[in-house]
Amino acid sequence: MDCSFIRRNLFSYQEHQLSDKDNKEFEAHLHSCAECYRIVSKFQSVISVIDLRKTEEPNPFAGTRIIQLLESEIERNKEKAEPLFLRVLQPLAVAALLVIAVIIGFSIVTQREPGISAIINHQQDIQSIQSDLNIPDFIDEDETFFANK
Ligand SMILES: [Zn+2]
Repeated sequence: MDCSFIRRNLFSYQEHQLSDKDNKEFEAHLHSCAECYRIVSKFQSVISVIDLRKTEEPNPFAGTRIIQLLESEIERNKEKAEPLFLRVLQPLAVAALLVIAVIIGFSIVTQREPGISAIINHQQDIQSIQSDLNIPDFIDEDETFFANK
């Protein structure tokens, strides 16, 4: 068997139409001839791609049906996504707002707390100084100024 037989019978080999004897000799030649092996494997890869295309070739209705299925699937996911958003994110948003409110409340209280106590302490200081120095009351200088006018 020579190389020309191989190249003339690529299709016959691929379609299993060679006699058992020819088929065995064909394969024996492939094992001994690198060039024919390369040609046959290339031919087979081309054929397999063509076969794949044939099986993948969609009938016109399959195409639209697949698109319809995808669209209905997308619609269903949209419907699912919205309740999920509300069920999960709404409580999270409420919780986050509560946390923020608590933090703001604390910061206001802690900001005011020292201020109020400082004023109270200041008044107590004034009272203790007044009693220590025996002063009946601090005079509001503005009041006396305007009263004299
Ligand atoms: Zn060969």
